[in-house]
Amino acid sequence: MADCLFCKIRDGQIPYKGVYQDDRCFAFEDINPQAPTHVLVVPREHVATANDVPALDAAGEALVGHLFAVAAKLAAERGVDGPGYRLVMNCNAGAGQTVFHLHLHLLGGRRFGWPPG
Ligand code: 5GP
Ligand code: ZN
Repeated sequence: MADCLFCKIRDGQIPYKGVYQDDRCFAFEDINPQAPTHVLVVPREHVATANDVPALDAAGEALVGHLFAVAAKLAAERGVDGPGYRLVMNCNAGAGQTVFHLHLHLLGGRRFGWPPG
């Protein structure tokens, strides 16, 4: 997607602080961190929102599962797995999605309130 920020990051057109990559996804530090750990785990494939996942059938389910597995691995690496962390996937503007390329937020290193804002 030519105008997609995360496709541009994936393609090396925008600088970013990468923390992980494999053949299906990559992860990098959020530019505006909301917690001491704030990493975005992003599929290489352009998928706009969570609404688009069911149409991908088993491949979509495997992809989203992989994003969660990578996020959990990064949480353990950073030592936030014990205290606890939050995984967030905003879907569409009403939920706060601003970049329309699927991504999972890994937030950790502080306490989180509930309900979320
Ligand atoms: P959303 O609001 O779509 O759930 O999350 C998008 C996230 O991308 C936000 O937390 C925002 O801070 C982050 N972000 C936006 N632009 C950039 C950028 O150019 N670089 C990085 N590293 N993060 C970005
Ligand atoms: Zn994209």
